[in-house]
Amino acid sequence: MAKDLCPCGSGKEYCECCEPIIKQKALAASPEALMRSRYTAYVKQEIGWLKESLEPTQRSDFDEPSVTAWSKESEWLGIEIKQTKTEEEKNIGWVEFVARFKQGNITRNHHELGEFHKVG
Ligand SMILES: [Zn+2]
Repeated sequence: MAKDLCPCGSGKEYCECCEPIIKQKALAASPEALMRSRYTAYVKQEIGWLKESLEPTQRSDFDEPSVTAWSKESEWLGIEIKQTKTEEEKNIGWVEFVARFKQGNITRNHHELGEFHKVG
């Protein structure tokens, strides 16, 4: 049986990597796992998870039609995790990452330092 490797590039199968997080059957074990699941959600057009994994205060700004269009129109080339940092006692984590995607003939890099708060 062909392996269905996860788009996040972990080398693991999708069903053992980002899928349980996206489907909300498992919690992301780290900010990195959460970031990977968000990247994979773009690839798989799991827009519900992109919204759900935002901070509640940011959800009202979430523009679902434009995120859906963007995820479909882009060709997703991969994500590279540059570094991660966590402060367990504050339940905060940071992930620096570069996501590569192609729009038309142009390859773009999205470089971001994301901050994550552990909820629940
Ligand atoms: Zn994955």
